[in-house]
Amino acid sequence: MENYDVVVIGAGVLGLSAGYSIARQGARVLILDKGRVGYEASSRAMGFQSLRGENPPEIPLAAVANDLWHTLDEELGYPTEWTPSGRLWVALNDEELADFRRTAALWQSHQLPVRMIDAAEVRELVPALTDRVVGGLFTERGGHANPQRTTQAFGWACRDRGGIIRELTPALGIEVRQDRVVGVRTTAGIVGAKSVVICAGPQTPLLAKSIGIDVPLVAARLEACITAPVPPLFSTAMVANGLSVRQTGRGNILFCGGPHEWVDVDLTSEPAKPTSAIVQGEARRLLELLPNLKSVPLLRTWAGIVEVSPDHACILERAKAPEGLIIASASGHGIGLAPALGRVIGELALGAAPSIPVESLSLDRFASLSSDWASERRWVAGEYNT
Ligand SMILES: Cc1cc2nc3c(=O)[nH]c(=O)nc-3n(C[C@H](O)[C@H](O)[C@H](O)COP(=O)(O)OP(=O)(O)OC[C@H]3O[C@@H](n4cnc5c(N)ncnc54)[C@H](O)[C@@H]3O)c2cc1C
Repeated sequence: MENYDVVVIGAGVLGLSAGYSIARQGARVLILDKGRVGYEASSRAMGFQSLRGENPPEIPLAAVANDLWHTLDEELGYPTEWTPSGRLWVALNDEELADFRRTAALWQSHQLPVRMIDAAEVRELVPALTDRVVGGLFTERGGHANPQRTTQAFGWACRDRGGIIRELTPALGIEVRQDRVVGVRTTAGIVGAKSVVICAGPQTPLLAKSIGIDVPLVAARLEACITAPVPPLFSTAMVANGLSVRQTGRGNILFCGGPHEWVDVDLTSEPAKPTSAIVQGEARRLLELLPNLKSVPLLRTWAGIVEVSPDHACILERAKAPEGLIIASASGHGIGLAPALGRVIGELALGAAPSIPVESLSLDRFASLSSDWASERRWVAGEYNT
């Protein structure tokens, strides 16, 4: 039987970033995926890196991630298209503006570098915006990257340092002996491991459940769209009119927005990702925001499935039992946090103390969660909400 220090289940950006950080320390790591590297949410995302002010326990992770992003291309040896151009939230009416003022005050109380800006400053950042703009919230920190290239970069860098990535090899369960993980059961047999990391995106709860651990995550389909390239319009990562919008290095306008469409997934197959009516709503909102794009062709739309936790925050759990098991989920914002999450997951998997405070992201915080929490919120397959 093959044996590794760590087997990681899931070759998305989290698994690959963790695998990279484990391999870099000289440990033997195998990353398994039921499909291809980065084929699920990780290559379908927008690529925003944010402050995570909406979830204070994640602020330290976001701060470390931000620092790491600045040197990530040199560190990994491959390009991520990182654009450190800050983040802008645009208010189109007074109600949104009042909301942003409350947000700014709250985030400033956590020492986050955000400030309110007036309509003229917003339009300096994005001159093509509708004249309905009344103001905005801005931070110079953060930026955006190409999620597909970032994921691939972690994968290549992991391989360069001796990590092994095995595609088309679904994990079926975790092997446990005397309350310790000893390996992973796959469609190609059992591989031995001293530690196992489950970061299988929406399939994470299914794998954890097979050894009796409840992980409160539900799956949702998100849809993104991209236009044909246009001349440079703006460089910041923008949130406005219910959309996240950025312009790629090639000039395409990439955008996506809610609502979440809650879906069911199974353990080994690729989830269905049809394009739905959500796209029409997204395209309408983009034209309200940037009216000059009216005659620019929409090139492509696609869907990706993310898993979401009850408080929308990451889950980072080093299980008490069985020993050697790590469970990790980014709860729908894993690209931006990937450099920091990979580092911490690697530390947890190798039995080290985490270098970033993540205790409050463990499963303990859900101890009093009702077993019906997802249906109480209507976060169930067939419903649309956020
Ligand atoms: C449209 C869209 C926009 C987004 N925008 C942003 C953004 O702007 N910023 C941001 O930070 N995040 C964003 N996200 C979220 C981000 O993409 C995810 O949080 C992140 O990619 C999660 O990475 P992951 O590695 O945990 O999961 P995934 O990328 O889902 O990877 C999990 C992997 O596990 C594999 N797997 C599952 N089951 C098994 C099994 N049984 N055996 C083996 N392998 C298995 C899957 O095949 C998959 O490759 C967006 C997502 C979408 C869909």
